[in-house]
Amino acid sequence: METPANIIGHDHLEEKLSGLMEDHRGRGAEFAILRIGINKFRQLNINHGYRIGNGVLIEFYNRLNALARNRDEVIRVGCANFILIIKDLHNEGHAMLAAIKLLGDLEEAFKITDRKLKINAGIGIAIFPDHGLESGTLLINSEAALIDARHRNPPYIIYSDGPNQIDATSWDIGSELQAAIDLDQFELYFQPQVNLKSGQAFGAEALLRWKHPDRGYVRPDYFIPIAEQTNLIDGITDWTIRAALRLIMDWPVGSKPLKVSVNLSPKVFDSEGLIESIQNSAAIFNANLNHLTLEVTESALMEDMSTGISILKELKSMGVNISIDDFGTGFSSMNYFKNIPANELKIDQSFVSNMLENPMDMHIVRSMISMAQGFGLKVVAEGIENGETFDLLKTFGCDVAQGLYVSNPMPQDKFIEWLEQYNEVC
Ligand code: C2E
Ligand code: MG
Ligand code: MG
Repeated sequence: METPANIIGHDHLEEKLSGLMEDHRGRGAEFAILRIGINKFRQLNINHGYRIGNGVLIEFYNRLNALARNRDEVIRVGCANFILIIKDLHNEGHAMLAAIKLLGDLEEAFKITDRKLKINAGIGIAIFPDHGLESGTLLINSEAALIDARHRNPPYIIYSDGPNQIDATSWDIGSELQAAIDLDQFELYFQPQVNLKSGQAFGAEALLRWKHPDRGYVRPDYFIPIAEQTNLIDGITDWTIRAALRLIMDWPVGSKPLKVSVNLSPKVFDSEGLIESIQNSAAIFNANLNHLTLEVTESALMEDMSTGISILKELKSMGVNISIDDFGTGFSSMNYFKNIPANELKIDQSFVSNMLENPMDMHIVRSMISMAQGFGLKVVAEGIENGETFDLLKTFGCDVAQGLYVSNPMPQDKFIEWLEQYNEVC
């Protein structure tokens, strides 16, 4: 006779979540845990008996599994408590959609032996890393959200007491950010880029990680805006550019140096020293600036076109490559391309990761490639998560590929190993 899924103990669950955190953190990716509690389960057992109760648990578990994607996971964590782990979450909406689908699915009655039962449940959602950098915190926050969800209609909610680990009132992030540079708490991860036409390695995007001694890895999305407000961004940018140029200097013997891209905050255009600092760093490392690419987002440039553009023009004249990041998310006009001294355009990952399911996104990607190439720009597609998207972009004539399908971002030594192996195969 079929029995309900085993309850997974807390230690085991925490261990599993810690592994997932490690994996997602390296890629700058997020995952969600949906804690789902069946309402009044004890009463159901009393009213209908344990056999029916077990039948409900089995059917509930099966329905959850039917809803989950292949890579997601369903775990029974308590008598009538389950967790659905959604890996590589696209955004909060993705987790909410799963909750709505599940609640919709519960509208259909459970048929256990000769009985038809209506089952109600609440869903509390917590997202890594926003709602906990440690598995214990994430689990507690999902529990808190579930308690809250039971009083709501519809009965689901995303944990919202503010990011637990990053509470601006208890954490003077600005002063710690200053110390982070001095204490060497930043690490630069590198995400490979490959040339879609030749198959050769093309370069890497440098992505900043703050390894906080107590709080674990803090994502750039969180601390860069704070660094921008407190003018610490200049020091961080200098550090990042220097670390990227050091990679260019340490390039493995025998392989030709590739391009290394660094993200540039628009705030650095407000201060005077950017150009001088890049020149000094290049001199220290004896690096050729043709190997450095600076990425600026489309929307950032639109905020203050004139200063940004004149600085970028000067950088380009020094040999630095300029890339327009997250393209498609702003509202730039064709006129924009006449003025931006760019060599490269990066199609925002939201279009790339949806293009197989959404014909409109596919059409947008294709049009962006031909438009950008018409302006003489190299086109990079970021956010490629599978082989089908990779192959399709190749047939569209896209120049460069970046995304989890090619590789996760990784520390410099791992990246160099990756490169050596990649060069051997290709
Ligand atoms: P971005 O420049 O658009 O960087 C791409 C982001 O997408 C990275 O997140 C990367 O880890 C992630 N990613 C790469 N491939 C995939 C994929 O296939 N699927 C998915 N879902 N995600 C993928 P990360 O490292 O968290 O960086 C987030 C943003 O933080 C960056 O977006 C950039 O705007 C900013 N950032 C990162 N490093 C720096 C830096 O050194 N300076 C400045 N000013 N901003 C930075
Ligand atoms: Mg970027
Ligand atoms: Mg981007």
